[in-house]
Amino acid sequence: MGLPGYHMRILRVNLSTGRVRVEEPRVEDLELFIGGKALAYLYAYREIPPGTDPLSPSNKLYFFTGPFSALVPGASKVTVMAKSPLTRLLTDSHAGDYFGPSLRKAGYDGLVVEGASKDPVYLYIDSRGAEVRGAERIWGKTTREAIDAVKRETSAKASVAAIGPAGERLVRIANIIFDYERAAGRGGLGAVMGSKKLKAIAVLGDGSPPRPADPERLQAEGEKWYNYFATSPRYSDIREYGTTNGLLYSAALGMSPAYNFETPSIPEDLAAKLAGDSIKEVEVDPPWYIHGASCPVKCARYTEALYKGLRFRVKPEYENLAMLGAATGVFDRDAVLYFNRLVNDMGLDSISTGNVIGWLLELVERGLIGEEELGFKARGFGDAEAVERLIRLIAERRGIGAILAEGVKRASEILGRGADLAVHVKGLEAPAWDPRGRRGLAVSYATADVGASHLRGWPSTRDPPSAGPAREVVESMARNRDDDALRDSLSLCRFVSYPSEAIPPLYKLVTGLERGLNDLYKAPQRAEALARIHAALDWLVPPIHDDVPPKWMKGQPTGPLKGVAAFLDERDKREAIREYYRIRGWHEILGVPKPETMEELGLPWARGDAERALRTVEERLRAAGIELG
Ligand code: SF4
Repeated sequence: MGLPGYHMRILRVNLSTGRVRVEEPRVEDLELFIGGKALAYLYAYREIPPGTDPLSPSNKLYFFTGPFSALVPGASKVTVMAKSPLTRLLTDSHAGDYFGPSLRKAGYDGLVVEGASKDPVYLYIDSRGAEVRGAERIWGKTTREAIDAVKRETSAKASVAAIGPAGERLVRIANIIFDYERAAGRGGLGAVMGSKKLKAIAVLGDGSPPRPADPERLQAEGEKWYNYFATSPRYSDIREYGTTNGLLYSAALGMSPAYNFETPSIPEDLAAKLAGDSIKEVEVDPPWYIHGASCPVKCARYTEALYKGLRFRVKPEYENLAMLGAATGVFDRDAVLYFNRLVNDMGLDSISTGNVIGWLLELVERGLIGEEELGFKARGFGDAEAVERLIRLIAERRGIGAILAEGVKRASEILGRGADLAVHVKGLEAPAWDPRGRRGLAVSYATADVGASHLRGWPSTRDPPSAGPAREVVESMARNRDDDALRDSLSLCRFVSYPSEAIPPLYKLVTGLERGLNDLYKAPQRAEALARIHAALDWLVPPIHDDVPPKWMKGQPTGPLKGVAAFLDERDKREAIREYYRIRGWHEILGVPKPETMEELGLPWARGDAERALRTVEERLRAAGIELG
């Protein structure tokens, strides 16, 4: 028995044995976890035991789509998930372009890669199955070169995900690049691919997506929504600029990551150098424009720039511009576009790379590291030469780059300094939104399943943190977290932002199942509860680790929010985090789902695990001599 909107086929490839098989997901699992993000968490929870070494063959990689993939406009995302070598937490990251829809057209809802190959390989997938092929000749190549080579060997129409030199060298901030410019960026998932000696995955969508429950009405609804997103003035800014206007907004709101989060408010004319019209000036629309071809919004635009005599193309976005530029203090547009191109080619997460380099440059500024340790002379913030050099050193794990390749938390531990300047949560480097400009956002960072992610829920208020206790906005953050994670589970792109009420009717046309929004939100809530239990059984002690970096507890130094911190004080922080636990049905102090919550979520089989997780956290606190009231 199956469900409309799904192929009911998950492809499983074991790289240790070379075995390829197709298995049928359980209908009950699809009903409870939908697909994409939430379903990937269920699989990972069952298959990756707590304590697993993320870089061992026991770790697994999931590439999962949701039921909207290839059926609903804007459902372009594929969830990639594994245990992160950066944080040792189950971590999902979502990539756009046409890998997800191609997987669906090839006849699969998801792909699981397990084991590890001895020699470099790549995977070729089409409607006839999957084949593991040798990749000796492309090992060592950049993502761009590898994608070109794999396309030549398979099909120009194949969608290709590849790692670069960073992933091969197990750099903990390595990403997976899809079709040259899109990334499953966070958590070092590229290093997991590298540990499996898997250079690339090519998917040819040579078949059809699954049949939805009501194809005619879905077609009509799809056309209606496509036209709406393509023409509505509400989306004109993102259609025109993509996200590249972001630095103007974040700077004005006191939320930019400028100078390693030292100066969230920066002048408009400085922010404008890396935003909006400045980027538009170098925009091109090449004939080989592929990304977003079927998308009504088409947010990501190619630019062509010249840096040190080299002409190149890249698709910048806010996070790249802000983290590789503002966070490192480099406001030279063409240099920052080049950094963006370089991290993509090397297979490095632009957010974590900008963050760790910004941190190192702050150490330089403060005289905490010198030329001898660095191996070269650096000027501190704004030194474009140093940033370019450091990107290469990180990707190649050379010199100081070998330390930065471990991520900002480990780097500060290895060097034995700068921990108070390192901006991360649970080891995941913070992205380009300083929460001191948005009351309650810090609660999202502190409690997110993966660490400091800007994609795990925003509070609805625009009030600055000084306006009142953060506790007051936790509920709206939790609802937004559910809403975003539901979209991740359906494969919907966040920028093709269907109103929430539109989702249940579309879900019914695809799957035939009639479900209300609050019922659908249970799927991501289940995934989050499982992630939390898994993390607690592994290493997480929520009352200690659900926290924010020291910098965010200090008031902003300048600008309209001068003196404003992420929370009013320590007590406000703790109360807001506990309020989140309460809303979720977790233990209000220990931060772990209660056994009865697992029953209420329809997962009675996880009751015993919740009990064990609670006991484990309690014991760790006792062993550490910490008493919590
Ligand atoms: S809005 Fe942008 S990221 Fe989203 S599907 Fe369209 S082109 Fe891709």
